[in-house]
This record gives sequence, C-alpha cells and structure tokens, in this order.
Amino acid sequence: MDSTTLTTASVATSVQGCSSQDESVQPAEDHPRSLVEITRFCLLLFGSALDLAYYSLLMQDYVSSLMADVKAKNPAEPEFHQAVEEVIESLSIVLERHPEYRKARILERMIEPERTIMFRVPWQDDQGNLHVNRGFRVQMNSAIGPYKGGLRFHPTVNLGILKFLAFEQVFKNALTTLPMGGAKGGSDFDPKGKSDLEVTRFCQAFMCELFRHIGPNTDVPAGDIGVGAREIGFLFGMYKKLKNEFTGVFTGKGPTWGGSVIRPEATGYGAVYFAAEMLKTRKEELKGKTCLVSGSGNVAQYTVQKLITMGARAVTLSDSSGFIYDEAGLTPEKLEFVMDLKNVRRGRLAEYADKFKNTIYTPSDAKLDHNPLWDRPAQCAFPSATQNEINEKDAVNLLKNGVYVVSEGANMPTTIGGVHRFLEAKILFGPGKAANAGGVATSGLEMAQNSMRISWTREEVDNRLYNIMKSIHDVCLRTAERYGTPGNYVSGANIAGFVKVANAMMDQGLV
Ligand code: NAP
Repeated sequence: MDSTTLTTASVATSVQGCSSQDESVQPAEDHPRSLVEITRFCLLLFGSALDLAYYSLLMQDYVSSLMADVKAKNPAEPEFHQAVEEVIESLSIVLERHPEYRKARILERMIEPERTIMFRVPWQDDQGNLHVNRGFRVQMNSAIGPYKGGLRFHPTVNLGILKFLAFEQVFKNALTTLPMGGAKGGSDFDPKGKSDLEVTRFCQAFMCELFRHIGPNTDVPAGDIGVGAREIGFLFGMYKKLKNEFTGVFTGKGPTWGGSVIRPEATGYGAVYFAAEMLKTRKEELKGKTCLVSGSGNVAQYTVQKLITMGARAVTLSDSSGFIYDEAGLTPEKLEFVMDLKNVRRGRLAEYADKFKNTIYTPSDAKLDHNPLWDRPAQCAFPSATQNEINEKDAVNLLKNGVYVVSEGANMPTTIGGVHRFLEAKILFGPGKAANAGGVATSGLEMAQNSMRISWTREEVDNRLYNIMKSIHDVCLRTAERYGTPGNYVSGANIAGFVKVANAMMDQGLV
C-alpha cells in the first residue's frame, strides 16, 4: 500500500503540473501559429488525458486493495464489507482531490474500530434455566464527540452486523451537525416471547459488564431493534445502581426521568421530513402520495403517523412473519391498534387483517427471491424494518410500480445492487445515513437538555428536528453537486460525513 500511496501522490503532482503548464502556453512567433498551437495543444491534451487515466487506474487500485484488506481482516462479516464498499465507492473522488487524507490513512483508520468490547451475558429464565448470550459494544470513532449509537437485541446480532451499524453511525452522526462520535452495540438475545422479568434479568446482566465502558462523556447508547422504552428503562436503572449516579448516559429515556419529548417519534418523523425535502426539489409534496412502509416497530409506526398528518396514504406494514396491504390506507385509529398490538401486547401483525376488513395479509416466504411488499403500486417507499430488505429485484419492482421516492428509515435496507438501480433511475433516493438521522439527532438534543438540566417543549424539539433534517438534506445535495454527482444523495451523504470526521482526525494527530 505504501508504494501505491507514494505513486498516486506523485501522479497528483504531475496532474497539477500539467494544468499549470496549460496556463503558461504562449503562441510561438516564428512558426505558423495554428500548426504549432494545434500540435502543442494535442500533445498537452493527450498527455493530460493519459495522466488522468493512469491516475484513475491508481485510485481504482487503491480502492480495490483497501477492500481486499477489509475482507481479509474481517472475514465472514458481509454486512460490514457491504457498508464499507458503499462508502468507498463514493469516496474515490475525495481521496483523489485530497491526497493528504490518503497519506494520513484516514479511511484505513476509520474502518478499524477504536475499541471493540465482547462479553458474556449469563441470565436465568422464569423456569430457572440458565442461558448464556453474547454482548457487544463497538466504539468506532470518537473524533467529533463521545461515542453514540443504539443497542440492538435480536438473534441475528453478531460482530459483523454491529461493525456495519457502527461504521454507518459515524457518518450519520457527523451529518446531524451535533458533536457525536459513532458506536453500536447489542446482543444476540431475543426479547420476543420473554416475560418482563426475563427481560429485566437479561438487561441487568448485560449492564453488569457494559457499565464499565460507557458514561455521559464517553459513550451514550440508545435503542434500536428489540430495545425500546422498556429495555432502556431496565438498562438505565441498573447503570444508575452500579455507578450510584444519575446522568444522561442513555437517550430514549422516559419523559419523567430525563428523556426528551419527540425522541420516540424522531426517526420516523425525520425520514418523512427528508422525503418531503427531496420532493420539494421537484416542486412536489407528500400530500396525496401512496406510500409503502415496512416494519411495524418504532420507526415504522412514527413514519406512518407523520405520513397521515401530511396527507399521504400509507398502505403497508410488516413484521418478520408477514405484511399487511390496506389499500384504503392507515388511519389514526388503525395506527393506534398497531401501537397497542406491537408495544403493549407484543403480538403479530396478522391480527391487523382479522380486525380491519379489506386488508390482505401475506405471510413471509423465505423461498421467494423478492419481497412482495415492494411489488405494489405507490410513489414513495419507506423501508423501516432491517438491513437488506430491498434487493435488486425488489428495487426493479418498486421502479416498475411507479415509486420515485425512497427514504430509508432502516439502516442499509437496500443491497448494493438495489442502490445502483435507484441511482441509475435517478429517483429521489435518501440513504439511511441521511434519511434516518433524525433519531440520533434528537438523542443529541436529549443530551443537550440533560447537560443543561432543562426540558424543551414538543414544539421546540420538533422544530429543531425539522431544521436538522432540512440541513442534512441541503448539505447532501450541495456536496453531491460539488463533487460532480448532482442529485446523488448517497455520494453527498458519504462525502459530507467523511470530510467532517476526516478533518477532525487530521487535527487530532495520530491517535
Ligand atoms: P423495532 O421497534 O424493534 O422494530 C423492528 C421492526 O422490523 C419490527 O416490525 C420487526 O418485526 C421487523 N424486523 C426486524 N428484523 C427483521 C427481519 N430480520 N426480518 C423482517 N422483519 C424484521 O426497531 P426500530 O427501532 O423500528 O428499527 C428499525 C430499523 O430502523 C433498524 O434498521 C434500525 O437500525 C433503524 N433505526 C432505528 C432508529 C431508532 O431510533 N429506533 C434510528 C435509526 C435507524 P418483528 O417484530 O417480527 O421482529
């Protein structure tokens, strides 16, 4: 890699040298002007083109050897490889324009977590049986603030999944304009079907180790899949007991013990605000649009709530067992039923179709090569369940059915093949790093309120959330334009997030 770095730097100099020669070309007086000028011009043009082609080959070489390194050093972590690859695809042009980032090995350092903590979580179920789960915290990058990112409890959790989430979080947090580094954690524990006491025991056992590694100025976790208000309460309670202090170490806390209003709503609301901003660039609005929403948890519920208030029609929801299609659209009453079903009774979405007439329930079918939820007529899609829930075939189906706005509430819900389809079709595609940043942004607002020991009103927090989403949208658009990919929110988000963190890392030296 060293030799590549040296060579690319010298080629950069030669390309710069070429352009200054360009400016110094003077007409030769003692020869027919046109012939000499044309010859010199052709030589320079040909030379510069060769240099640029050579330079671009070297960049490709740099990027592919970096990817090969990532795969060799992090085997069997396909989601992490995917997240890194998607970012690197956007960054070639930045690394080309800024050899200083390559020289300082900024990207190589960003790919390596600052610290990874893995630990045993033994706990006892209601029957007295003992279980051992695995706990994790990946502290990815603290260049612009304390580590910040959610905890996920789901049987699919492993180190690779959490590294992908922590890596994405670094870029997302940088976009929020707030001072937060990136982290992610969790466990392969499945809260589904467990009693409240079992979840309490698990959360306490998990915190018995995690408390050593977090703190209001070190690392501030929040919720994610499988970690909602109930789990945050149990985790926070144990942290407080172990440390004998009441601090803002978690976000997503209850409203009477340090939580911010609008935090539960923030990710879903933010994804809808982002879609509305994208539509504004085409002088359109969400009112009257038909929207496909996946998931039925925190993000999906508040996405639907905001869509309803903005006059859009949300016609689908899903859980891991299947999805509902309600052509008439969800209403506030239907959404209230879903919230009670999912947050209180912890039941399955199939019940929705029993309760509401004219709704079709389709059970999940693992044998299918696509998800039929994405094969319905609509203009907008809000994937809000989990990673890789839209594959290339789903992307083709969405485009075929008229979808031209995709705002990702979930983290990396679209495969690389799917993302390419959306970008080729030039639809309004808001990647998760930007579109779902409202959740962590409002966590940042919760941290600010905790530090000042005050609480803002709903209106104040919602206004701040809206302004942050608007500013994320605008910075993505501006950055994409500046780096030669107008309208491409993926490259805009990746580049803007990267440059902010990279500059902070450059300022702080080799740490
Ligand atoms: P949640 O409340 O636990 O809900 C997750 C939903 O997705 C549930 O309906 C769940 O169905 C479904 N789901 C989960 N894993 C699935 C799988 N493998 N296959 C099919 N369905 C699956 O979680 P959430 O907080 O809404 O998070 C959803 C997504 O948003 C995740 O990608 C998360 O990382 C991202 N996100 C969340 C926040 C936040 O503030 N919460 C912020 C930014 C991004 P079951 O009930 O059947 O499991």
